[in-house]
Amino acid sequence: MSRANRSQGLFERARKVSPGGVHSPVRAFGAVGSEPFFSASGVGSRLRDVDGNEYIDYVLSWGPLVLGHAHPEVTAAVERAVRKGTHYGTPTPEEVELAEKVIALVPSVEVVRFVNSGTEATMSAVRLARAFTGRDLILKFEGCYHGHGDSFLARAGSGLATLGLPSSPGVPKEITQLTLTVPFNDFQAVQETLAEHGDRVAAVITEPVVGNSGLILAEGGFLEFLREETRRIGALLIFDEVMTGFRVALGGAQERYGIDPDLTALGKVIGGGFPVGAYGGRRDIMSRVAPEGDVYQAGTLSGNPVAMAAGLAQLDVLERENPYAALEERALKLVTGIVAAAGRCGIPATGAATGSMWGVYFCEGPVRNFEEALKVDRQFFNAYHRECLLGGVFFAPSPFEAGFLSTAHSDADISETQEIVEQALAKATNKK
Ligand SMILES: *Cc1c(COP(=O)(O)O)cnc(C)c1O
Repeated sequence: MSRANRSQGLFERARKVSPGGVHSPVRAFGAVGSEPFFSASGVGSRLRDVDGNEYIDYVLSWGPLVLGHAHPEVTAAVERAVRKGTHYGTPTPEEVELAEKVIALVPSVEVVRFVNSGTEATMSAVRLARAFTGRDLILKFEGCYHGHGDSFLARAGSGLATLGLPSSPGVPKEITQLTLTVPFNDFQAVQETLAEHGDRVAAVITEPVVGNSGLILAEGGFLEFLREETRRIGALLIFDEVMTGFRVALGGAQERYGIDPDLTALGKVIGGGFPVGAYGGRRDIMSRVAPEGDVYQAGTLSGNPVAMAAGLAQLDVLERENPYAALEERALKLVTGIVAAAGRCGIPATGAATGSMWGVYFCEGPVRNFEEALKVDRQFFNAYHRECLLGGVFFAPSPFEAGFLSTAHSDADISETQEIVEQALAKATNKK
């Protein structure tokens, strides 16, 4: 970014003191051949960087900020909470309130345990599933990202997809061998894999809407099929709703698509911009978690009252406003606009939206799995991404990440974005 001065200086300093200058790989913008801007503040749909540039933000902290930046009710709740103290290491009223709220909203969750990230939530859910079933294998889908736990770093999405990493060194093969991987939306591959290994499978884990290789919707009947197959073989179905929870509907994808998983992992929106994750589900399974049961899992800062207050305030607003239909309408408008604009430039494109999640691939559709997502023109995407940023629109710096929308994004924001996208597409096309 030629106009970024303070960001450049900070990135130089950061690279000397932290790996790649960042604390999570995708933030480095390396995938789009660029450098990150450093954020200074955000209000509503807008993000401001340390050089004073403003962006309409469709990354939204990679998912959590469904009400946009610095929502007044969330900010007020955090201020009230933090004045009382930051953490106590004893139970607090806030964690009971948020637990009750999560159970009321998410259909299949009867009992919930808070942790500090989505990674912890999925890791803990899998440990519990293994203990409950007495089996060791798990089945996951190519291009799904379930955090950076060892078991999940096999053909994963998000940063690994972006960086083209099949897995990660440092994970013993004895551990990845316990993870079976098949393409998403592939009924036959699931059936064949379960026919061979079914009696050793503890759980099938999936993102019910794949948001970590771009946006991929489950084909009709696929989630139902996973529900039936797991029941048949005595394995648990785990929905990783870290991204979809409170984002595609108040009760997550399980409410939207009417499927009851046995366990659910939550994160992102649940913490209102603070580090919160959770896993929950059937009472008989969750009762195996310590200290009620024998499956160990703990956390010094789990249930942090400031984070609980932020999450609770955000969920209260979502419950009151139930914005999901309106969000989806706007998201579809955005996707349709981008796909049409690409068409006018002669660029093939396909896209989808569900609730406040959306995605566009610059390739011929349909995209039903990770393999098909890899058809995108990455060089074109990089040029497009750079032009959007220069125009004042912040999309995720990778073609393999879902886009988000917040309740703070107005019709005027969408129209302004549309114009910037239109120009960015034209400029990126000219560079081809
Ligand atoms: C972001 C994400 C995670 C990991 O959550 P962290 O809080 O980054 O550890 C897990 N699963 C899904 C589906 C995610 O989108």
